[in-house]
Amino acid sequence: MLSVEQAYERIMASFRMLEAEEKPLLDCMGQVLAEDINSPLTLPPLANSGMDGYALRHSDIAGASQENPSTLEVIGIVAAGQMPDKTVVPGTAIRIMTGAPVPDGADTVVPFEGTDEVQRKREGKPLDQVAIYADMPPGCNVRPAGEDVSQGALVLEKGTVVRAAEVGVIASLGMDTVKVIRRPVVAVLATGDELEETGAPLPAGKIYDSNTFSVAASVVASGGVPKILGIARDNLEDLNAKLEATAGADLVVTSAGVSKGDYDIVKEVLNERGEMNFWSVRMRPAKPLAFGHLNGADGKTIPLLGLPGNPVSAMVAFEMFARPAIRTMLGRTKIPRPMVEGVLTAPIRNEDGRRVYARVEVELKDGVYQATPTGPQGSNILTSMSRANGLAICPEDLPGKDAGDQVQIIMLDWNEEVQV
Ligand code: AMP
Ligand code: MG
Repeated sequence: MLSVEQAYERIMASFRMLEAEEKPLLDCMGQVLAEDINSPLTLPPLANSGMDGYALRHSDIAGASQENPSTLEVIGIVAAGQMPDKTVVPGTAIRIMTGAPVPDGADTVVPFEGTDEVQRKREGKPLDQVAIYADMPPGCNVRPAGEDVSQGALVLEKGTVVRAAEVGVIASLGMDTVKVIRRPVVAVLATGDELEETGAPLPAGKIYDSNTFSVAASVVASGGVPKILGIARDNLEDLNAKLEATAGADLVVTSAGVSKGDYDIVKEVLNERGEMNFWSVRMRPAKPLAFGHLNGADGKTIPLLGLPGNPVSAMVAFEMFARPAIRTMLGRTKIPRPMVEGVLTAPIRNEDGRRVYARVEVELKDGVYQATPTGPQGSNILTSMSRANGLAICPEDLPGKDAGDQVQIIMLDWNEEVQV
């Protein structure tokens, strides 16, 4: 039997970061920048106002107060998007809106609240003069040119993951496309004579193919692009035909047909079409696992990961081996999920010296992560996976973990749906 680490290392040795592609900015979420982004411009391009108010010279309002206001002549107005056409000279001010360029001569903006603007409007007085009540520090409410970014500066480094903030930053530089590491295409193939397609009536003795969906959804969640190949029946012709459609994929993920008791078709076909290893991994669920390379028609080989058929095993094996492979191809450097240390509220049993990944619901209570197993842990019980937001680990050399014991937990979710 291989340890989880041995299987992981052997699999991960086949994966590298993929090449770059240039694409529309909004399509790049979760992808990794393939080049440094240096700013073609200064941001903000000009000194501009941080408030709606009056742009003026600080020396004109030094010491101003409610009792002793400074009255200035208002010589113009400048809105965001306009350029000021006048210079503020001593004794004058220009009405200015947030984001508008600060006129020459002005060094400070006093917001409307620090003036008699509202009172004047109420009294129907013209706005050709303004009384300033507040002595603000010089430079107040003026956002200097280049405060955010200077021209030529390195704004985002190669390797940065594009999130909403990066999309915004890149857009602020005026760019609408960006070079990122492309997403891997992952071919998804279910195998088994007992499988029926969703949407069709279920004949006696059959079950719906759920692995195609949980695996394809996991591919999307990991940042890959699933290519669904459907269900291959347990016969040579069908399996061979379905495997033809893997051409062009960066990874093939199959499910079922790799455990000991299986009808040997899957193993036989995979062996014929490439270099394949069939392993037992010291973990529960997901002991049987296949990994190797399919020979493509173009002389290239495609890595193939054969997941066990049981729905929970398939998902856990995907989590442990396929997700890291996909993230590596995406150029992500943080490969593992976040782990937390928590306290079990019910025991986990280890029956046969394998590393147990128990489905748990993790909740933060009084500052402690509490992990509650989500019911029976059979590898066929997929709803127990749906209730879980973490996998609590019982090491292979322990007979189990009891309620109250500390456990390491792989967090599958940090979302708002489950309180963490
Ligand atoms: P096998 O590895 O082929 O022996 O399959 C192990 C178990 O997983 C069997 O109970 C299968 O019926 C089940 N199984 C295999 N493939 C799927 C699938 N695509 N969707 C749901 N269950 C599956
Ligand atoms: Mg089968």
